[in-house]
Amino acid sequence: MECQELRAELGAWRQGRLAPDQRQALERHLSACAECQRWERDDRTLGRLLVERLPRYPAPAHLRVRIRAAAAARPGTLWWSAPVGAALATAMLMVLVLLPVLPRSAAPDPLQPLVRAALSQHTRSVLWGEPRPEAIPAVLPRLMRETRIELAKVFEGDDEVRLVGVEPVVVEGRWGLAFSYQDREDHALTYVILPGQGLAVPNRNRVQIDRFRPMLTQINGFSVFVWKQGPLACFLISDLVSEGDLTRFRDHFLRIRLETEPVQAP
Ligand SMILES: [Zn+2]
Repeated sequence: MECQELRAELGAWRQGRLAPDQRQALERHLSACAECQRWERDDRTLGRLLVERLPRYPAPAHLRVRIRAAAAARPGTLWWSAPVGAALATAMLMVLVLLPVLPRSAAPDPLQPLVRAALSQHTRSVLWGEPRPEAIPAVLPRLMRETRIELAKVFEGDDEVRLVGVEPVVVEGRWGLAFSYQDREDHALTYVILPGQGLAVPNRNRVQIDRFRPMLTQINGFSVFVWKQGPLACFLISDLVSEGDLTRFRDHFLRIRLETEPVQAP
């Protein structure tokens, strides 16, 4: 068995789905190949981190009722309406609650890669980011110099939301800053600031929040606010998608928007 093949079959092997001769071939290779042993170890660690760190929220009661009603109305069309284990049913509800509630809206072209990049920064920091709020005062001035994004002030958190980290990001050749926040219910928020030359935020999907009108879009089950602030393009991402959660997300936007004042260095 080649390394490539082993890596492709790892999942099946772990779940005991390989034929006996295939299993033996895989285990023979694994016991002799240090590279694949490392691969297997990393793969297991990633699986564990996903389970431990990916936030999950129980579906609100009204949503559970709607899902049950939908399943009952269409017997046989949803495979999980058949008797399934309680854990599996709960897992399904957890997945369903992450589906977008707003109408799907594609971000406009020049913005789209940036929205996607901001989203991947968000998932990366949720999965891998180590909260290090104590390091921020030392790190931030250097990051501002290096990314040439200066902040006259930055939202440092309050009773509802706390600042837990800051990182440099590079998106489509634009250097920027990504701030990580956490709200009181442990929802993660990522605030990405990039140089905004040549980027315009389209007029559709705008929401009025106080005196601001950011665009609100949903992508892959996440909510994203997009707005321009002076010469900068700003993105705020979270998994707050349901109607009640969006109210909270709007509040988060407002406190961050009011308290963060970026200025681009000349
Ligand atoms: Zn190998």
